[in-house]
Amino acid sequence: MALIVQKYGGTSVGTIERIAAVAERVQRTRRAGHEVIVVVSAMAGETDRLLGLARQINEQPNGRELDVLLSTGEQVSIALMAMMLESRACPARSYTGSQVHILTDSAHTKARILDIDGRRIRRDLEGGFVVVVAGFQGVDEHGNITTLGRGGSDTTAVALAAALSAGECQIYTDVDGVYSTDPRIVPQARKLDTVTYEEMLEMASLGAKVLQIRSVEFAQKYNVRLRVLSSFDEGEGTLITSEDEDMEEVVISGVTLNRNEAKLTILGVPDRPGIASGILGPVADADIEVDMIVQNVGADGTTDFTFTVNRTDYKAALDLLQRVCAGMGARAVEGDDRIAKISLVGVGMRSHAGIAAKMFRALADEGINIRMISTSEIKVSVVVDEKYGELAVRTLHSAFALDQAPAKS
Ligand code: ASP
Ligand code: MG
Repeated sequence: MALIVQKYGGTSVGTIERIAAVAERVQRTRRAGHEVIVVVSAMAGETDRLLGLARQINEQPNGRELDVLLSTGEQVSIALMAMMLESRACPARSYTGSQVHILTDSAHTKARILDIDGRRIRRDLEGGFVVVVAGFQGVDEHGNITTLGRGGSDTTAVALAAALSAGECQIYTDVDGVYSTDPRIVPQARKLDTVTYEEMLEMASLGAKVLQIRSVEFAQKYNVRLRVLSSFDEGEGTLITSEDEDMEEVVISGVTLNRNEAKLTILGVPDRPGIASGILGPVADADIEVDMIVQNVGADGTTDFTFTVNRTDYKAALDLLQRVCAGMGARAVEGDDRIAKISLVGVGMRSHAGIAAKMFRALADEGINIRMISTSEIKVSVVVDEKYGELAVRTLHSAFALDQAPAKS
């Protein structure tokens, strides 16, 4: 017997029929001998509806009041879920975040969980109840209701699993797992049986649609076995775990495409100490996040400096650089917001040489020009012109045979 936390997203509880289907699955898990904590999101569309109401009053609603409002979505779901279970002769009790003391900081609309008091939940589980907890919400030390940011119910589920030492945290959603790449770009994309926390974090652009990224960080920190599965089909989903579990012998797990960046280049800046901080300092001060950074070897006393930012920050960053660089004696500032970043991700890269070379060869064979390169221990990223982005993903997916199941180790 194990304790299982099951989280159901908005579409999984979007109608009374679907809530009944969730109850059925919960009861099946109980019949298999497990204790169950159910975490639910607001019914599909509800959080957006509530946000819309608030914005009719004020475009920037007061954070405290917005959290009071948004938390009601999940409160509806827990009550309906508990009623549904009870109506099927399955004892159940629902709780809001504050009732089970999901203590957070006071950062309204993006609060972080600090602590959970599991005693009340534990007592109910021992009493034979299914415990239904509202996702996405908590309470700060002053008793104010807080919410955890969009998609925050995933993090509630993982935090409960950690606090109560659950055997597994299962995230039921409308996709059946994490894929080697976006199946809309590569129809042969393969569902991964397992992926490590680290890979999942690197594959945020794939995974973020499936899981709130903060929930993965939380799972990694507390070593919670996390599984993503479909609430509509049967199947094992994708297990997200640490590297030491019995894993497939994979070198590359996935290839991701990011179209949300833009690149900026400062040409011919004097090559002397303080240049990098002179350029990036003001960028950071303007709250603009920087991703890749490349500085060239200097020639004739000057150097070129390139970095990428979020595309939404492109105009602001370009304006800022033009001002900064005028004072620095740089030759010119150039920018391009029609770029795509493609990354190969895999923990197996640590022990395999030649991945980057093979990647560059495959892209060259397709005539795709690489504009920037960066690498980390488990990732190689390249920037290419946006129009080649999808072609690059397809090329790499097939060059590394990501559609094929790897051998079991
Ligand atoms: N209901 C919230 C949202 O729509 C939280 C969640 O679903 O996880 O973002
Ligand atoms: Mg979600």
